Amino acid sequence: MSLITCEKATFAYEGVPVVKELDLQIEKGQYLCIVGENGSGKSTLVKGLLGLLKPVSGSVAFGDGLHQTEIGYLPQRSEIQPDFPASVWEVVSSGCHGLWMNARHQRMAEENLRLMSMDRLRNRSFARLSGGQQQRVLLARALCATKSLLLLDEPVAGLDPLVTREMYDVIRMLHEEKGLTIVMISHDIQAATQEADRILHLTSTGSFYGTPFEYRHSPLGVAFFGGCCCHE
Ligand code: ADP
Repeated sequence: MSLITCEKATFAYEGVPVVKELDLQIEKGQYLCIVGENGSGKSTLVKGLLGLLKPVSGSVAFGDGLHQTEIGYLPQRSEIQPDFPASVWEVVSSGCHGLWMNARHQRMAEENLRLMSMDRLRNRSFARLSGGQQQRVLLARALCATKSLLLLDEPVAGLDPLVTREMYDVIRMLHEEKGLTIVMISHDIQAATQEADRILHLTSTGSFYGTPFEYRHSPLGVAFFGGCCCHE
């Protein structure tokens, strides 16, 4: 069974549909990138997957041991207060479920801090980190909330090219070495087709879903790549 199955799922605000009749299956081990122009419904779909918005018709179902509350979520940087008055450790450990940290939570937070190479900065103020370091801390936080699926909302937005490359490498490591399923929202179609193994392109009139190769040869992909990317 798929981790997440959307069947003809329609999400709307005040009766106006934004994501329409979406069929989507997210399988364990996939790396799915969701692209689309501003206003195409990417954030709305994120809210739908997180259970913050219910479909007005159709369904979103969870399987293969995944519960909706066990998605590791990295929000858009614009939603994060960059001067949030907390230490790196406090931000990471806030990703562990439950009101109190038990020994298992403590170990998990330590492990994820190390995995993101941020353990030596554990007592540093979150507000004093660079943008890339803040993203690593927030990734460690997201990792505390999940064993299987990371939902990353524009993880490289606002980062310089070098840090962007590092962030893509970290996400690839989590996918390939840690076996995590990745769902990433991105504006960077070029990178999406290089990093992900599935592409979902949302538009106001419908959606494309398929492999990067199929995407490059689809009308939407050809419109972006100009039909010149026949190599694979
Ligand atoms: P994207 O993330 O692709 O930029 P969004 O999902 O944020 O797109 O928005 C899709 C559409 O839904 C836009 O037309 C936006 O104005 C509208 N929208 C988003 N949030 C709300 C809301 N809370 N209430 C009403 N309309 C909304």
